[in-house]
Amino acid sequence: RAKDSGPDNTAMFDTDDRDQARRQLALSTDLRGALDHDDLTLEYQPIFDIASGRITAVEALARWNHPTLGVVSPATFVPVAERTGLINSLGLWALRTACEQAAEWQAISDIGMRVNVSALQLRQPNFVAEVTAVLLNTKLPVGKLGLEITETVWLADTVQVRDALTALHALGVSILLDDLGSGHNSVTYLNRYPVIEAFKIDQAYIQAMPGRRPEAIVSAIVSLAHAFDVSVVGEGVETQTQLDRLRESGCDLAQGFLLAGPASASEVTSMLLERSAG
Ligand code: C2E
Ligand code: MG
Ligand code: MG
Ligand code: MG
Repeated sequence: RAKDSGPDNTAMFDTDDRDQARRQLALSTDLRGALDHDDLTLEYQPIFDIASGRITAVEALARWNHPTLGVVSPATFVPVAERTGLINSLGLWALRTACEQAAEWQAISDIGMRVNVSALQLRQPNFVAEVTAVLLNTKLPVGKLGLEITETVWLADTVQVRDALTALHALGVSILLDDLGSGHNSVTYLNRYPVIEAFKIDQAYIQAMPGRRPEAIVSAIVSLAHAFDVSVVGEGVETQTQLDRLRESGCDLAQGFLLAGPASASEVTSMLLERSAG
């Protein structure tokens, strides 16, 4: 039926919704299987100190190689996991795997590990206990772990979320605000959450560079953050010009395809070994 078929277009949208619901259900069933059968992996993307060029940390990014669909993006499967309750096991798996890997890397490098955490995990009463247990079991020094939390979480601003973040900060875990700029105003976060250690500026601002407006926004965020001892990461850096502009604005850290894309654990091991030799 043609898309412009008139009044009963609604019926067509309902069918689309049902199809989408069915696809999501299938995907969530497959995702549960993938978790049970170790079909998920993590890649690690280096984060660079802009002034020294050193790798200070890596960010763990979940990857799913689906048997028939091929590689499914976390942008697709993380929301599915959030809607179907799988996010807690997915998140715990990612945290444990990333911390084990980071503990192993401490033998060759003092890099930190950054793990993305969903709002739903933070609201789970066990979350702080789980993080503590993972740190104990993997023997990763607590100061090496940072949790990246996207802006939408902070918007929810519940007592549970605040208590969890305060407890994690007290443990020595770093709290990073991911994708800053996609929603609210950074002053609000600085004022309400003294636990935040770093802002990660949303890729959209970096990729809009060079340009007067995005550069003005980035500079303003950097001065504000620095006044509160919060460091700033520019993510999604794809060109030398973007990196130069970040450096000029006083941004501390950078991450992006220009510097290094997400890579397997063994590729990162080689990179770290080469750097410590050179
Ligand atoms: P994010 O945490 O903001 O991660 C940055 C995303 O940007 C990653 O996409 C990364 O591969 C991509 N990226 C890095 N450098 C560049 C660049 O120079 N240009 C461009 N265009 N992209 C770049 P990815 O791996 O597809 O992850 C998407 C999102 O999925 C992440 O955004 C994060 O919110 C979520 N995610 C990934 N792994 C996990 C996880 O283990 N748990 C949770 N809760 N969320 C995760
Ligand atoms: Mg992130
Ligand atoms: Mg981000
Ligand atoms: Mg993002």
